[in-house]
Amino acid sequence: MDDSSTRSFAGACLCGVLAFRIVGPTKWCAHCHCSMCQRAHGAAFVTWIGVDSSQLELKSDASLQWFSSSADAERGFCGVCGSSIFFRSSRWPGEIHVARACVPGAIDREPAAHGFAATAVDWLHLGDDLPRKS
Ligand SMILES: [Zn+2]
Ligand SMILES: [Zn+2]
Repeated sequence: MDDSSTRSFAGACLCGVLAFRIVGPTKWCAHCHCSMCQRAHGAAFVTWIGVDSSQLELKSDASLQWFSSSADAERGFCGVCGSSIFFRSSRWPGEIHVARACVPGAIDREPAAHGFAATAVDWLHLGDDLPRKS
């Protein structure tokens, strides 16, 4: 098996209390331009890594809190520093999505698409040619 896909990838929130490890291979990586990600992260868009829940190992969940952002979805954040890091939804059972920016360095794949492109902000001009999905 390819060496890079079996690596693990360490990540953490801004204050470092909420530290975790993703056991590769990851399933996918994509940018999300939905309005809820924009507001939850205070950012133009959020880049997510998709993994099975079993691939995420929390070093400490003492500061992990969950906010129900819609009827079928929750967003996990650090209760100390407020970093938004995780997303889970009954739309993707068994999966957890991890904010790419909280995992420094390279992982086993590059972002492959723009999701919810229809609600992308108009004050950012993307220069890549990745597929845009609505
Ligand atoms: Zn924190
Ligand atoms: Zn989103």
